[in-house]
Amino acid sequence: VILRLLRSVQESTGSAILLITHDRDVLTAMADRVVSIGSVPPPVSARYAAAAPSEQSASEVLRVVDLAVHYNVGDRHVRAVDGVSLHVNAGETFAIVGESGCGKSTLARSLVALEQPLRGTIAIEGQHVVGATRTALRDRRRRIQIVFQDSASALNPRRKVGPCIAEPLHIHGCYRGKGGPAQIAALLELVGLAPFHAERFPHQLSGGERQRVAIARAIALQPAIVVLDEPFTALDWDARDGLLALLRRLQAECNTALLLIAHDLQLVRQIAARTAVMRDGTFVEQGETAALFAKPSHEYTRALVAGSLGHQTVRQPLHLDHRR
Ligand code: ADP
Ligand code: MG
Repeated sequence: VILRLLRSVQESTGSAILLITHDRDVLTAMADRVVSIGSVPPPVSARYAAAAPSEQSASEVLRVVDLAVHYNVGDRHVRAVDGVSLHVNAGETFAIVGESGCGKSTLARSLVALEQPLRGTIAIEGQHVVGATRTALRDRRRRIQIVFQDSASALNPRRKVGPCIAEPLHIHGCYRGKGGPAQIAALLELVGLAPFHAERFPHQLSGGERQRVAIARAIALQPAIVVLDEPFTALDWDARDGLLALLRRLQAECNTALLLIAHDLQLVRQIAARTAVMRDGTFVEQGETAALFAKPSHEYTRALVAGSLGHQTVRQPLHLDHRR
């Protein structure tokens, strides 16, 4: 819609457009001429070996049973999440894929108690979230953290990186007096940033660096599981690679379970042991990632997989009327 709008504004005003993008589909659809800085990414398979899910302990960090979150918008009733069940084991990566609007973010928000479910249960390390008292909820929140798609708006623009990462530590009384700054430096290092980044404001960072800050903040309290809601979407290829490597490292070093929401199936294949396919608020199927993509049992999964062949991501093809 936005691209079509740009095109029609361009046609009616005759203005030139200088478009900066990392999206090759957008490029193909929009650009008359192209200047490329940096490199075109090599095939994904060359960059990383196939996903090798590490030894999984049987201990379960998250269990969701028959979760439903509905919205009333005027006289419209939206079943954003409608009967979802899943579990994630310690140190495991579980992915959720599905088109825009299928309910992924609503599900993610309800896991961290930002939504009030209509029915169903959520247990973190065996402790219930839905209906928990404020004090109990505070304890659960230490164990499950979330990273949003758009770190530019998720991070407080008026707060420097250091205090931003320190905030959850303060809230939970874990900012160790003198040890505080050292803790922040260690977290920055863990996510591949330098100590001087602590003095920067979010707008002084690249998208990839901001996402690293969001991750540092999320892992500051050493949670059992981190929910990542489309963390790669706003990033270019290099930043994606870096973030993927970082997530793997975190898992290896900290045994943090990840619930990864993504629409890039190639990426999911590389990192997730198990995957669920979501559509219209429900999971149409879930299982071991390799098996799911090799032998989808649901027609919708087949369509998703077929759509991703030869492409890096699943996208609606652009139907622009004409190119100049
Ligand atoms: P996704 O993350 O998969 O794109 P969302 O969870 O954001 O999907 O949205 C699922 C559905 O719920 C959409 O139809 C969306 O319009 C609706 N929705 C999401 N949040 C709200 C809200 N706060 N109020 C009303 N409707 C909402
Ligand atoms: Mg979303």
